[in-house]
Amino acid sequence: MPAVIPERSFANYWKEKSRWKKDFCPQVKALSFNFPMEKTVVLLKPDCVQKGLMGEVIKRFEGEGFLVKGCKMMQLDEALLRDHYAHLADLPFFPEILGFMQSAPIMALALEGDEVIQKVRDLIGPTDSTKADPGTVRGDLGEDKMRNVVHASDSAASAQAELNRFFDPSELLQ
Ligand code: ADP
Repeated sequence: MPAVIPERSFANYWKEKSRWKKDFCPQVKALSFNFPMEKTVVLLKPDCVQKGLMGEVIKRFEGEGFLVKGCKMMQLDEALLRDHYAHLADLPFFPEILGFMQSAPIMALALEGDEVIQKVRDLIGPTDSTKADPGTVRGDLGEDKMRNVVHASDSAASAQAELNRFFDPSELLQ
């Protein structure tokens, strides 16, 4: 039996491989460059600002590889807080939240990265600081349910709403 010469010889393989690289790689790269990365909003609350913990908290997010795409100090007013915490408006501690969140400036951050919304929620821990694990932001730096250092968006929809609420598009790096 004569040997069957394969149609895809080694030489052909290399030719095809370089064609693939030349023709398709730039498109794959262009696609990944144009693909928007996920963004989330973090608020460093009045307790964080007053205790001088802003650098410590930002260091933890940057240490995970997230990029700061927006950052500003703000004094929140009641109208914005009523919008932001609308889901809590009927709860008895709502007036206390309004008071606490206006007791000092906050820092608003827009963070960007792969799966940043869920990963930041994991990094900060649950609402009640006394129940948050050591190693989480709230577990290490928070006091209780109210003074829990940070807010972070809890879904893609709330991240988008909060980006619009706290930042003008011109304040966000591309
Ligand atoms: P999270 O900030 O973890 O997403 P929520 O959206 O439920 O939690 O609550 C918003 C904020 O309201 C909390 O971060 C906290 O500051 C405050 N808060 C929530 N529950 C309580 C409570 N039981 N007592 C006092 N403050 C609370």
